[in-house]
Formats: sequence, structure tokens, C-alpha cells
Amino acid sequence: MQLTTPYYLIDKAKLLRNMEKIAYVRERSGAKALLALKCFATWSVFDLMRDYMDGTTSSSLNEVRLGHERFGKETHAYSVAYADYEIDEVVSHADKIIFNSIGQLERFADKAAGIVRGLRLNPQVSSSSFDLADPARPFSRLGEWDVAKVEKVMDRISGFMIHNNCENSDFSLFDRMLGQIEEKFGPLLRQAEWVSLGGGIHFTGENYPLDAFCNRLKDFSDKYGVQVYLEPGEASITKSTTLETTVLDTLYNGKHLAIVDSSIEAHMLDLLIYRESAKVSPNRGPHRYMVCGKSCLAGDIFGEFDFPNELNVGDRISIQDAAGYTMVKKNWFNGVKMPAIAIKELDGSIRTVREFTYADYEQSLS
Ligand SMILES: *Cc1c(COP(=O)(O)O)cnc(C)c1O
Repeated sequence: MQLTTPYYLIDKAKLLRNMEKIAYVRERSGAKALLALKCFATWSVFDLMRDYMDGTTSSSLNEVRLGHERFGKETHAYSVAYADYEIDEVVSHADKIIFNSIGQLERFADKAAGIVRGLRLNPQVSSSSFDLADPARPFSRLGEWDVAKVEKVMDRISGFMIHNNCENSDFSLFDRMLGQIEEKFGPLLRQAEWVSLGGGIHFTGENYPLDAFCNRLKDFSDKYGVQVYLEPGEASITKSTTLETTVLDTLYNGKHLAIVDSSIEAHMLDLLIYRESAKVSPNRGPHRYMVCGKSCLAGDIFGEFDFPNELNVGDRISIQDAAGYTMVKKNWFNGVKMPAIAIKELDGSIRTVREFTYADYEQSLS
């Protein structure tokens, strides 16, 4: 049985490899791990993830509600800014709320007095080389940095969230930046009961020095007497999922082109935003093709890849590493058929958990 493309295929066995590393880090370091829903929110696999993680963290009312209702366990609320009309509902779904600014804390401290409250700190250093995704960029709105100002609100908070890593697979860079955080915020950290170090640490990647990472987290936790949290998004789901597509047409315009039944703008938007190529495996062979999406955007291109054989209409192309910042961002641009979502169970069987229809497209607007 072949499912009709396009569809995202989440492979639970591959997801499990990440989950086991996360469980190892929790065990060895004492840190808690919360899934960052803004990266991945496909709740059909939360059953598996729940056993290996402590809960979820969020960036909006919708996400905190999904985390509470679909994942359970510990639920953290964070948002760049909450509106007056949503704060009560946010608090009703959360164990902890982390305010982005002192202004937001002061506005909502009383309404959130029944749960644990915290503040986002911005250490003004980051691992991001991409301005667009750099929380420490000049004039950043993401968190407070002035220790004297934060001291004045310590009576209303018990911890901090610091998110300044971005796809950082370099442990020594993480270690150095944590040292800079300690230098800058040491006096605040000593008053805290918990510190979340955010996401963006690629510790489930191959060859990451997990034991050194665990020791560093444990030392940090012991030194300041804090419960450490990690908020892995990409690290939780990396390499677990593919986007399965079919070739609809081939052309030769100086290069061999293959058009597939998907689109980077609609189904893998981050490739476009960050100007990255998709991944195809094994990407070997004598036949090179530019694999293109079917939207009318001229630059809707997955990338150029090598194939063992000539591509023909009806051939399948499997785009690798398609879980993070993809399904949460898919959209109806050009009305392109929305990929279904399928899960490969641990026993190898594949089941479709969601298909999208014309009605979903129609109802996405009015
Ligand atoms: C984006 C984000 C995360 C998750 O980042 P990943 O790079 O996907 O691990 C965690 N915490 C916060 C505050 C974030 O903004």
C-alpha cells in the first residue's frame, strides 16, 4: 500500500533515538526537558514523547493550551507579549509563566500570582549567525538585560528563562556563553529557584559530547541551587521525519528540472526564509536534478541533488529532516494540496493520522 503524496512521515523509531538522548541528559544532569511547541506541535506523537520529556513550553495562548490539553505534565507559558483578554486563560493552562519584559510582569503579576512567575533575561550574546533569528540582535525586544532593573522585581519572580542558542552544535561555544551569562547575571541567578536555558542546543546530534554537557548543567545547577530546564524544539525531533513527494513533470532548461507535488513556500517555509537547501538522501549518482516545487513562486526550489537514475513522472522523492518548523508553518499558498500527516509506528506499520481537504482550504479564509 502506497499513501498518496504529498505527506509528512514521522518515524517513531527515529524520534525515539532523540527521546532516549533527552532522557539520558535528564537523568545525568538533573535538568528537566520541555518540548518547544513552536518548533513541533504534531500531537499525534505526544504519546511517545511524553514518557521521555517533562512537558511543554509555548509562545502563545494557543500553544500553552495545546501543551496542557494534548501533552500534559509540566506546562510553561511564555509569550513576547500577552494581551489583557488572554492572560486569565493562559494562567489557567500553565504551571509557570515567564514574562518577556518587566512591563508585562508588572501588568500581569497579580493575575498570575497563583502560579510560578519568571522573567526572560537577554544576555546580549548568542550563537546565531542569522540576524533574523538572533535574540541578541541590536535593539532586541526579547528579554531584560539590566541587572539593576531586574533586582527591583525579584519579589515577584522565582526564576528566569534565557534563550540565546540557535542550532548550536558546538559544546564549547555553549559552555563559553553560559560562562558569560554567569558573569553578567550571577547575582540574579543566586536568588533564583529555577533557570531555563531555552532551546537551540543541538545535543541530540551525532557526536555531541553528552557527558560534558550533562556535567556542565549539573555544575551550574549545583552552583546556584537552581532547577535547570531545557526547551529543545529542533533537538527533540531532528531527523525523525520526511516529506514524501512525487515527480509531476521533468524539464530541461540548461539544467535537468523535476517538479514535485509540494512546495517549499507552503510546506517547508524555513528553507526559503533561511535560504537553505533541502536534504535528499543518499544524494549520490550520475543524474543531477534541480528539484522544484509546484507553486508559481519562481524560487520555489528544494535544491539540486544527485540521483542514481533518470527521474521520471511518478517517481518518489523523499525530502529529509522535515519535522521542525515545517508542519507548524504549513500554509495554503497557491492552494497547493496540503500534505497529509502519517506515522510510522515502532512495528513498521504506517498509519495516516490527518488528511486535509478542500473544506480545510476554504475554511482557512472567509
Ligand atoms: C524557539 C525557542 C525554543 C526552541 O528552539 P529550538 O532551536 O527549536 O530548540 C525554545 N525556547 C524559546 C524561548 C524559543 O524561542
